[in-house]
Formats: sequence, C-alpha cells, structure tokens
Amino acid sequence: MPSSYDVVIVGGGHNGLVAAAYLARAGRSVLVLERAGRTGGAAVSERVFPDFDARLSRYSYLVSLLPRQVVTELGLRFETRRRRISSYTPVGDGGLLVDTADPERTRASFARLTGSESDHRAWQRFYGTTARLAQRVFPTLTAPLPTRAELERIVDDTATWEAIFERPLGETIEATFADDTVRGVVLTDALIGTFTHAHDPQLRQNRCFLYHVIGNGTGDWDVPVGGMGALTDALAAAARAAGAELRPGHAVTAIETDGVRAEIRCAGGAVGARHVLVNAAPHELARLLGEPAPAKPEGAQLKINMLLRRLPRLRDAVDPHDAFAGTFHIAEGYTQLERAYREATAGRPPSAPPSEIYCHTLTDPSILSPGLAARGVHTLTLFGLHTPARLFADDPEGVTRRLVESTLAQLDSVLAEPIRDCLVTAPDGRPCLEAKSPIDLEHELGLPGGHIFHTDLSFPFRTDDDPTPAARWGVATGHSNVFLCGAGAVRGGGVSGIGGHNAAMAVLETR
Ligand SMILES: Cc1cc2nc3c(=O)[nH]c(=O)nc-3n(C[C@H](O)[C@H](O)[C@H](O)COP(=O)(O)OP(=O)(O)OC[C@H]3O[C@@H](n4cnc5c(N)ncnc54)[C@H](O)[C@@H]3O)c2cc1C
Repeated sequence: MPSSYDVVIVGGGHNGLVAAAYLARAGRSVLVLERAGRTGGAAVSERVFPDFDARLSRYSYLVSLLPRQVVTELGLRFETRRRRISSYTPVGDGGLLVDTADPERTRASFARLTGSESDHRAWQRFYGTTARLAQRVFPTLTAPLPTRAELERIVDDTATWEAIFERPLGETIEATFADDTVRGVVLTDALIGTFTHAHDPQLRQNRCFLYHVIGNGTGDWDVPVGGMGALTDALAAAARAAGAELRPGHAVTAIETDGVRAEIRCAGGAVGARHVLVNAAPHELARLLGEPAPAKPEGAQLKINMLLRRLPRLRDAVDPHDAFAGTFHIAEGYTQLERAYREATAGRPPSAPPSEIYCHTLTDPSILSPGLAARGVHTLTLFGLHTPARLFADDPEGVTRRLVESTLAQLDSVLAEPIRDCLVTAPDGRPCLEAKSPIDLEHELGLPGGHIFHTDLSFPFRTDDDPTPAARWGVATGHSNVFLCGAGAVRGGGVSGIGGHNAAMAVLETR
C-alpha cells in the first residue's frame, strides 16, 4: 500500500464507503481502514444462524434517509420496497392497523380502537403536516447547513416549527391526540435509538422524531431489497470501481495531525494523508487523537433476530401477514413508554419492555434460500426500547437473558401461541434467536456505549458562523484536515450516507 493518500477514511461503515466513492470518483486517492473483517458497520447482512441460508439485516434493517440522489449519483444497484402496512398495534383482542393503501380500513381501525373519529382526523392532519415538513427539510440535508433562521424560513410554517424545533414533542402529542395507544405510536418515532422521554427539555425526542419523519421527503421506512448488506455491497463496489482501496481488518490506533498533513497509525504501520475522514464515533475520534473524550454516549436498545418456521397467530382477527409486514408495536402505549423510561432511569429493566418488530421476508423473501422460502420460513426483527447500557454493566449476559425472556413474554401476551413455538430449531437443538445488547454493539461494531447514532442527533441547522467548508457541511472536528464522515456528523445518523456525502463535499471544497 502506498505511504500517502489524498484521503484516509477511518472506518468502512456505509457512510465511509459513500465518502470513498464520491472522493475516488472525483479523482482523489482514497484508502479506507476498517477494524472489522468486513465493511458495512451496522448496515450489513449476515448468515446469523449458520445452519440456515437466511441473510438477516443483523443490526439496522429499514431505509428511509438514504437520498435517491446518492443512489443515482453513485450508480448503485440497490432498491427498496415500500411496505403497504405502516404499523399494527395490538390492544387487548383488537388492535390499530395503519394500512397506507386502504384509508377506509385505517379509519375503521381507529374508530374501533378509540370509539370516535377525532383521533383519526387528528392523525391525518398531523402527518399531513410532517409530510410538508419532510418535503421542505429533506433536500437541505445534502446541501451546506442552513442557519436556524434560514431553516425556519424554509419550513415556512410557524406552528410546525414551534412543535418540532422549540417545544417538547410531548406537548404537541398530548394536545393533538386523546388516545393513549395513538399517542404511543406517534411517540415511538421520537425514541428509536434515543433514551429520553416525551417532555425532555433538551428536545432529544424532537430531534429523533424529525429524522424519523422526513426521509426522502415522505418519512416512509422501506425494506432494503436483499437486506442491508445489499446496500453495503453496492457501495463497496462503487468505491472500488472508482479506485478507492478498502482494507478491512485494519483498526486505526492513532491519528496525528498538524492541520495540513496527518499520520494515521494502525497495527500494520502508518500512512500519511492530506485529509482524514472519520467514520468512527466522535468519542472514538477523541481517543485516536489522544484528546479528552466527550461524555460517553449511551445506547438503549435490545435487538433480537429470529428465524421462524411460520408466523405466529394473533389474538386479534387481523391476518399475521398484514400485522407483521409493518411496524408491530408492543407495550408502546404512551403511558407504558413513560413508565418504562422511568424504570430504566431508576436502574431497573422495564417491567413491560416496549419493543417493535417487523418481518423482512413478507416484503422481500430474497434474503432466504429458495428452500427456506418454500418451507414458509420468515425472519423477525425485534427492536427493544428503554434498555440503556448501564442496566447491563454488572452482568451483561444475565441481564440480556432475562430481558429477552421478559420481552418475549410481552410479545406472547398479544399472540395466540407462544413465539418460541414458532422458532426454527438448529440441528443442535437450539432455537434460532440471537440478542444484541448495547454492550454487544460496542464490542462488535465499535459503537461507544452501543449508541446506534454514535451520539445524540442534532437539529439540521448551524450553531456557529465558522466559514470553513467542514463547518458549513456539518462535519468539522476542530482540526482543519480531520472531518467526521459518519453518523456523528450533523445530519449523519441512520442509514443515509448523508454524513459520507457531506464530508466528501467538504473535502472537495477545501483547498
Ligand atoms: C441494532 C441497530 C438497528 C438500527 N436500525 C436502523 C434502521 O433500521 N434504519 C436506520 O436508518 N438506521 C438504523 N440504525 C442506525 C444505523 O445503522 C447507523 O446510524 C448507521 O449504520 C451509521 O453508519 P456509519 O457508517 O456512520 O457508522 P457505522 O455503521 O457505525 O460504521 C462505523 C465503522 O467504523 C469502524 N471503526 C470504528 N472505529 C474504528 C477504528 N478505530 N479503526 C477502523 N475502523 C473503525 C467500525 O468498525 C464500523 O465499521 C440501527 C443501528 C443499530 C445498531
């Protein structure tokens, strides 16, 4: 490998690969150093249960924030598929079904659950508002950061601006919806990957909600065809085709910079670069630079991957093929979410763990071998909320085991048969189920504290008047030739490639 490059990228997550592809296509020499044995970071597909040819999106699983612009500009062979059912929330022997293709079915479901028409009307108005917000804000994410005042002008709707950017989201939810289940479904978008509550004065819930409702100008969460690995594979191919060198199995141990040239060290030696892009989290960057680390972020989710012989039957009459195709909410009523947060804050695992599940194979069976698909096998992904890393600290395995049991018991409470009866069994007798705590994510993916967005999300506007390209693109680090290019950049969280795109643009604008 040469001893010097225009750009060295620390971490080959999907954002690092996006940056590599843009920069190599622009003629820069690019080296990507990735600590793991494969690229992709949290956006990968893996044969989780070795006896079965099912390639699960092991960590991240749905795509909303990846701009079509990035897919087109990089010529990626990658597509997503829309889910007809947006969500299903079981309540007692019934439930709330949001069917985007059948407004009357959705209206009737709201009316049965809430006993009136008003929450459905409020739902339509509310999501009409977020759709307009999405159309206005999303295009700004791949342009230099607007100031707060500029973004407010772009949003051009005072009530929406205040509801999303200024007041705790809980106030809006409580003023808009009466039903606890409906309120809970809305709030979940503010809590995925963010350990907080509806009335957090720091507005972490608002920031999380914003990114969950603006993706590609619609806020739809779509299924990556072929799984998340299909995206990473397409990005790696695009980066390589443009001339970037990708080196998995190379953990960077230190970065030294004088602001003009940098030296990047890993076990195999050192390499020089004009620019360093860091796909690792800001907390890890501080370690690499030998600087005092910012407060360690904390993830708060439990991810469970399952392989099923068949979909379980439900207590509700709804067809499981509908219920599991969208986001299936469990114990995510507004009051339940608040209680779970309080319990976790007090150091106790939630007594009724909130979670959401979804079945990839109902929308895209291509992740299964033809044999498994013919047998009616399905994958099930569960994302549990309000299980912060601190809960696992003393006994990671024991706490994970107990939380899996209580989470599955909570799921069983809405099923007509235990979920364990539906799991595929491996030849050694073990059920096909794996769980990942925040501690596991820290070890496997290098996510500090297991935080899925590297750090808390930020509003997509500028908070300084630094004129440098890095600051304008939201990727600055305090070193003039070291930029963030991952989830930790402003606007970088989620599977979006936006952090990588914006860092590449900042490099191309820097002399
Ligand atoms: C369980 C889970 C579920 C999620 N679900 C979704 C979802 O459905 N949809 C969605 O949009 N988002 C989801 N997310 C969030 C999303 O996956 C991340 O925000 C996104 O993957 C961030 O991408 P990235 O490329 O910036 O960073 P990462 O994917 O974290 O990649 C960073 C890379 O840097 C490498 N690295 C770190 N330190 C070093 C070092 N010192 N030297 C070399 N390499 C290093 C890591 O090994 C890693 O490969 C989920 C995340 C998790 C964990």
